[in-house]
Amino acid sequence: MSDAARIDAQLAAARACLAEVSDSPRLDAELLLCAVLKRPRTHLYTWPEQALDADQLARLHTLLDARAAGHPIAHLLGEREFWGLPLQVTPDTLIPRPETELLVEQALLRLPRNKPLKVADLGTGSGAIALAIASERPEAEVHAVDASLEALKVAEANAERLGLGNVHFHLGSWLAPLAGMQFDLIASNPPYIPEADPHLSQGDVRFEPRSALAAGADGLDDIRQIIHAAPAHLAPGGWLLLEHGYDQREALLALLDEQGWVNVADLDDLAGQPRLAIGRRALVQERKPNG
Ligand code: GLN
Repeated sequence: MSDAARIDAQLAAARACLAEVSDSPRLDAELLLCAVLKRPRTHLYTWPEQALDADQLARLHTLLDARAAGHPIAHLLGEREFWGLPLQVTPDTLIPRPETELLVEQALLRLPRNKPLKVADLGTGSGAIALAIASERPEAEVHAVDASLEALKVAEANAERLGLGNVHFHLGSWLAPLAGMQFDLIASNPPYIPEADPHLSQGDVRFEPRSALAAGADGLDDIRQIIHAAPAHLAPGGWLLLEHGYDQREALLALLDEQGWVNVADLDDLAGQPRLAIGRRALVQERKPNG
């Protein structure tokens, strides 16, 4: 076997091949090589002189061609880690993003342990938010909703693979399939990108479902619907947590204030971008004056 088939040589070649198409060519090259070798990343640096066989080389080159054509790494691997959970992802779901872990962290701060709480995740996609919360709060009952049957199948398969029995799945739009139910917390990472945003035709997002990304002219169509419908589905004192775009903070705060939410706040993600709006349904509802 020639030196060209060695792990270190293939890694360098793969990295060079992805330099133009990816923001993270080294990581991408490592992940694809690991997938082909079925070994962890440490293997690449512990056994740099080990050679790939013809089969492995062929599979690596197929993956590299697909990545060079723009396909997201998560689709090529069929998996993405979120909140420490390995999640199956397909082109039918949004690829879970690290910034969405902020939502999970803030939800958990509002969900005391050892209580039979009810939580809803609207637009669950791969199940990321619902499954992360379900894994941290086994005594909670988590309801995951998606309007895409294909996405819901992926989320359900993820729950099964992770052995999380406390998640229930509902097909439908936002709160519609949860008629008559009340929750202690409603979470959502809805689509929030404006339809005309050039970002939608660049990079990995081109391969993700448009319905999970874009929401009307200002990106707020779905967020408005959720904010409007949520109070009827929240217990008094219940929380709403909504992920949003970096430039939507003021709009979210205004919507929540206008509609009588209390404890309204908005938090930055780890990259310092405005990302998460929080509101609470008042403990005591204001009474409508008689007559
Ligand atoms: N944060 C994602 C992006 O900008 C969008 C996710 C979403 O619309 N919920 O690519």
